[in-house]
Amino acid sequence: MSEIRILPLGSGSTGNCFYLEIGNYRILIDLGIGYRKVRDTLLRYGRDLESVDAIFLTHGHYDHVKAALPITNHVSCKVYADSSVMYSIRNIRSERSVIEMGKQFEALEGLYVTAFAVPHDFVRTCGYVFEWMNKKLAYVTDCGQMNENILSMIQGADVLIIESNHDVDMLKNGPYPYPLQKRILSKFGHMSNDQCADTIEAAYRNGTKNFLLAHISLNNNTFETALQTSLKKMEGKDVHICVCHDQGDGMIEF
Ligand SMILES: [Zn+2]
Ligand SMILES: [Zn+2]
Repeated sequence: MSEIRILPLGSGSTGNCFYLEIGNYRILIDLGIGYRKVRDTLLRYGRDLESVDAIFLTHGHYDHVKAALPITNHVSCKVYADSSVMYSIRNIRSERSVIEMGKQFEALEGLYVTAFAVPHDFVRTCGYVFEWMNKKLAYVTDCGQMNENILSMIQGADVLIIESNHDVDMLKNGPYPYPLQKRILSKFGHMSNDQCADTIEAAYRNGTKNFLLAHISLNNNTFETALQTSLKKMEGKDVHICVCHDQGDGMIEF
């Protein structure tokens, strides 16, 4: 029986939301996908939105919080986020809990969570690690640049959900205006396919073998380009790498 299950409900600039099961717990990360889509996709896999045990938000950009109100109207669990996100979710009725970067806490009995800072152009943005028994899952998207602190936080994760936002050439030759290209390419923007592949290589050296590529741009990337960039980097290594499509990925078990 798998101890980690992931159902991507949406990933990319149109909206982000992941459903995770780790041990007995059911978790949502980010609330950037409409309530009906979240509810219906979960139902298709025999899960109820109402039974979610905890919600974690990475930052307050619209593509991560836009459905916070309608979704939290249907759950009774706590919502965890950095204090800088609280204004974006001021209307929700759920109990809110402010996280502290780098400080592990027991969110649910036996489920230990650590949020850590990632460089991005929201006030403060975080990634997460979730640890239950001997299982560890890490989540890093909306990250302009990888750094040693993040690598040490995610060290030894069984599964890493990692941003592979854009192909640099596609971005530079694509439809985005120059200031937006500059923003995405900056160290407070988004991680390219090459940066993602380098991260995967580093995380692999630290013991991670399962990778899920996320937050893939619809305009400046393709699912295949993202996947091939990381696969090429890791050729011959014992790794499992897959891509979060916008929908229809199904439950991924580890
Ligand atoms: Zn963002
Ligand atoms: Zn985003």
